[in-house]
Amino acid sequence: MMSGIFNSKVKYTLFLGIVAVAIVIVCVFYIYNVSRALEEDNLVYFDEIASETAASIGIKLGELLTSVRNYSYRFAEFDSLTREEQLAMLSETTNSSAFHDIVYIDLEGYALSANYGEAFLSRREYFNLAAGGVSNISGIIVGDFTGTRINMFAAPVFTKGEITGVLTGAYDTEELKDIIYTDTFGGKASCYIISFEGSIVLRPNIDILGFDPGISMFEAIEPTSDTAQALMPKIAAADAQGTFSFEFEGESYAASFKSVGFNDWTVVTVIHSSDILAFSRNVLMMTTTFTIVFMLFVIAGWMLWGVKFWVSKKKCIDTIAERDNLKYVDSLTGGPSFEKFLNDVRAVFDETPDDGNSIYSMISMDINKFRTVNDHLGYEEGGKILNKLANLIQAGLMEGEFYTRRSADSFCILIKYTSDVDIFGRIETLINDAYYQIEEYKLILSFGVYKIDDLTMDIRSIIDRADLARKTIKGNNESSSAFFDDNMLIKIREEKRIENIMEYALESNEFKVYLQPKYDLNNQSQIIGAEALVRWFRDGKMIPPGGFIPIFEKNGFITKIDKFVFEEVCKQQKLWMNRKYDMRTISVNMSRMNLQEPNFVRDLYEICNKYNVPTKYFEIEITESVAFENLDILTRVFNELKNYGFHISIDDFGTGYSSLNMLKNLPVDVLKIDRSFLSDTHNERANNIINHVIKLAMSLHMKTICEGIETEEQVNLLSSLNCDMAQGFYFARPMPIEEYEKLLYSDAMVTN
Ligand code: C2E
Ligand code: MG
Ligand code: MG
Repeated sequence: MMSGIFNSKVKYTLFLGIVAVAIVIVCVFYIYNVSRALEEDNLVYFDEIASETAASIGIKLGELLTSVRNYSYRFAEFDSLTREEQLAMLSETTNSSAFHDIVYIDLEGYALSANYGEAFLSRREYFNLAAGGVSNISGIIVGDFTGTRINMFAAPVFTKGEITGVLTGAYDTEELKDIIYTDTFGGKASCYIISFEGSIVLRPNIDILGFDPGISMFEAIEPTSDTAQALMPKIAAADAQGTFSFEFEGESYAASFKSVGFNDWTVVTVIHSSDILAFSRNVLMMTTTFTIVFMLFVIAGWMLWGVKFWVSKKKCIDTIAERDNLKYVDSLTGGPSFEKFLNDVRAVFDETPDDGNSIYSMISMDINKFRTVNDHLGYEEGGKILNKLANLIQAGLMEGEFYTRRSADSFCILIKYTSDVDIFGRIETLINDAYYQIEEYKLILSFGVYKIDDLTMDIRSIIDRADLARKTIKGNNESSSAFFDDNMLIKIREEKRIENIMEYALESNEFKVYLQPKYDLNNQSQIIGAEALVRWFRDGKMIPPGGFIPIFEKNGFITKIDKFVFEEVCKQQKLWMNRKYDMRTISVNMSRMNLQEPNFVRDLYEICNKYNVPTKYFEIEITESVAFENLDILTRVFNELKNYGFHISIDDFGTGYSSLNMLKNLPVDVLKIDRSFLSDTHNERANNIINHVIKLAMSLHMKTICEGIETEEQVNLLSSLNCDMAQGFYFARPMPIEEYEKLLYSDAMVTN
């Protein structure tokens, strides 16, 4: 049982382990796939944000350029102003603008700044472009006046539709960098403005790549999604927009690009590949944490369920163990129950090599008439006696031997033996132990012994055989034992065979009624009646009553046979009545089984009624042994019979333990003295007994008949003792009804 629990525990732990590993695999798989999906999503997200950032950079730069263009309108007549007016105008415009210096440059290239005076700038690209009519923003240049890094926003100045000069706004590069700074990606991304050929026009303050200034971006990086040649025209296009990935100094980066909309500039936003995930790291963290917590809950729930299940299983096992304990223990003696005995014996047989040598024998033991022990001493005392007996048996057992109390007072004992003497010795010891140690009552014990020659035999069948042997001695007045022999089995099989065919035999008239005449001893030629005796004819052979009556008495079929015989006799009496023959009483044997049937007498009476035959033509024979088993029932049945008008006789008188004294209150008409009294007519003692029985019967107004009369000597003896009637082979054997009819009514038959 414990190993069962252990196994289930191991199995459960193993199962949990597998489940946990499976969950971990699922989690890893889930996280990997989610991060992959998020990475892709993030790239799209990054691109969207970068595009927006680029657009906003374009707008801001565009606004600055537009403001210069707007100022340029004021400068249409600039050349015609006085130097003071020119400087005042430049000063005023500078102060109201976002630029640190507004500079006017005439078409010759002479520049005038309110802050810094004059300079010659005709070589500057931004000047030439603006002078050509293209508003533009310069790359980073070293200021001609200040010597610092600046970007110039330049627009042409028109006077009456003609370009007459260029107006520029100088913007400090370091300040301009603020415009392209983006913190959308937590400062992990850098926005670069590059020209169409790839050179960096403006780099941010946080420069994650750290290019050398003036270097072309396409020379520095190694694009992985495209070749540099394929990528360049894409980025240089007027409506450039898209993403690409690249490697730089051994690191992977993702980039989004979008055209600014003027100057052929493009904003390229760059981020380290590992930082792409950063956006969704929180989401990933949250889903992963949620998944793990959820899984932990599932596992915890599972374990809780497992523990609960295990606890309830343990409880269940404990209950079963408790119940098994009850199942395996005899509640009265505390010894092993019958079930345990069967299991133990089976186990020991299975372990014993079956080499054909019998070493075990089964003993079936029973206390004769234990009921009387209970009647005399009470149930409690009866229980104590059984307990003592159980202890005595237990004490006498050797290793590998078992016993059990099978039912009330019946025990089974398995012993090892080497010879029959051995078995007798063990039984004798137990009888003596019981005699000396159980003083409350003198127990009479019956033992049936079966020497087991086949250890594979069913244990119950083994016990059945020991029982069979014991039943052959049941009723002995001393403790005794009997060994099983094969004849007992033959007997049992024969009994079974008879049981199988008895119903059919009755229906197919295999049973016949014979009649044995009874004679008047005062007038020996006078037949005063007969006894009906059943005969069974099967396959042309007659089976004597001794071969089937005891079996029918055991299985109850005898009541049917008795009624059948009674009805057959009734039919016959009716026939003779109709023929107006001189009617004689016929006695019919009735088994003790009938006494238990509440309608027994009534049924007999109904049969008489059916054939309209008076009850006085019948005598009911009940054997003496039955008479005193239950005097109350017997008295009731006898009185009933008497009331209906039947005669009553006590059969086989002298074989039981009754006395005439006990019979005196019963309405008995005839006493049938058993033939065993006549076995030796020379035995004076036996004759004396018959003499007394007859005299006492006479005094009780009972008639006497002696059965089994075989000799003239017996007839004479009985006559001399004033016995009324006789029945026996000396006069006539039991005969078919037709023969009896001829014998009794031959004269009448002739006249009829
Ligand atoms: P029982 O009622 O005592 O019947 C007398 C038995 O003694 C009969 O044996 C009969 O054949 C036998 N007998 C008669 N005269 C002599 C004789 O001179 N010498 C010897 N040795 N025997 C003699 P049967 O017919 O074999 O019947 C045996 C027993 O079977 C009967 O003993 C009776 O107890 C029982 N039996 C017979 N027929 C029935 C029946 O229909 N119903 C019941 N319940 N029992 C029946
Ligand atoms: Mg009889
Ligand atoms: Mg008899």
